[in-house]
Amino acid sequence: MQLRELGEFRLIERIKSKLSYSHRDIVKGIGDDACVTRIQTGKLLLSTTDTLIEDVHFDLGFISAHDLGKKSLAVNVSDIAAMGGEPRFFLLSLGIPSRISVKFIDQFVSGLSEAAQSFQTYAVGGDTSLSPERFVVSITVLGEALPSHAIYRDSANVGDQIFVTGYLGDSALGLKILKSRTNLSRVEERFRYLTERHNSPVPRVTEGRLIAENRIASAMIDISDGLISDLEHICRESMVGARIWLEKVPLSEAFQKYSKEFTENPTDLPLSGGEDYELLFTVDKFNVGDLERIKTEFQTKVTHIGEIVEKDNGVKVLRDSGQRYTVKKKGFDHFL
Ligand code: ADP
Ligand code: MG
Repeated sequence: MQLRELGEFRLIERIKSKLSYSHRDIVKGIGDDACVTRIQTGKLLLSTTDTLIEDVHFDLGFISAHDLGKKSLAVNVSDIAAMGGEPRFFLLSLGIPSRISVKFIDQFVSGLSEAAQSFQTYAVGGDTSLSPERFVVSITVLGEALPSHAIYRDSANVGDQIFVTGYLGDSALGLKILKSRTNLSRVEERFRYLTERHNSPVPRVTEGRLIAENRIASAMIDISDGLISDLEHICRESMVGARIWLEKVPLSEAFQKYSKEFTENPTDLPLSGGEDYELLFTVDKFNVGDLERIKTEFQTKVTHIGEIVEKDNGVKVLRDSGQRYTVKKKGFDHFL
């Protein structure tokens, strides 16, 4: 079915019917001029928004509508996780070109709804508009955190140890694999883990919450642009430098097995590839023991990859030999 057979208001009704759930904290959900939600007294409201634009952030040849729905919410939820918060509600704005079918929107919304349920995050509104050529998704997530639990980028200290969740570089390698094929159905089964790490990232909400509740981290960020680039954000805000031990950067088995096939520079992907959506955080050395204790509850591994040093040292990657390693490109920048 084409969108013109449905019209804007019936499309919104259709989206609403698949996304809205009643919740005691939603006083007024989708359907009024603004949504009305209750937030718990004493908590901070965390707000974040991210836009995904066709042919800039995704290529519909390489990601299914369902995965795109999941990913659009996941990348936003990841920002809340990186603050040590809990995602609560979200707003969904869509720019839809006329060539997009109603079936595509249905699949997109079903992926989104799956993600929303897994994070217990509720749709409370949005906006729907025609877009001239490209499909555009913009999601705003509202989350909350206790003031004592929120974790910022600006409070890393010299001597803090640097940790990262999961494996790095899988997503960037997955994207290279996708781009080497003519479409999604041409991706071999053996590469599926890597392409899924790109198309269906898992934001580390559980880990972020545990880190926050146990006050493990002095600073935290999610890796969206790339390890070095995002670590530089922490360092700039905190006015410190950092050392990363190259051989400690966690690489998945699949990454180690296949990266050489798809890139001339496999060392750089985990450092600057981006879209890992893993958590990068700094820990005072007296809290490292507490991290060891809580990490048993993590759904992924956590790896000690470096330390915070004086600002003058900048952000450096060192080999075991003590030699410095220089990345070709630090991370993603839209305008560079
Ligand atoms: P208004 O003209 O007041 O901006 P709209 O017609 O844009 O209202 O939207 C009507 C209702 O539907 C609002 O509650 C809005 O939040 C919701 N809505 C519109 N588009 C979406 C969408 N893509 N996803 C979720 N809710 C939506
Ligand atoms: Mg509107």
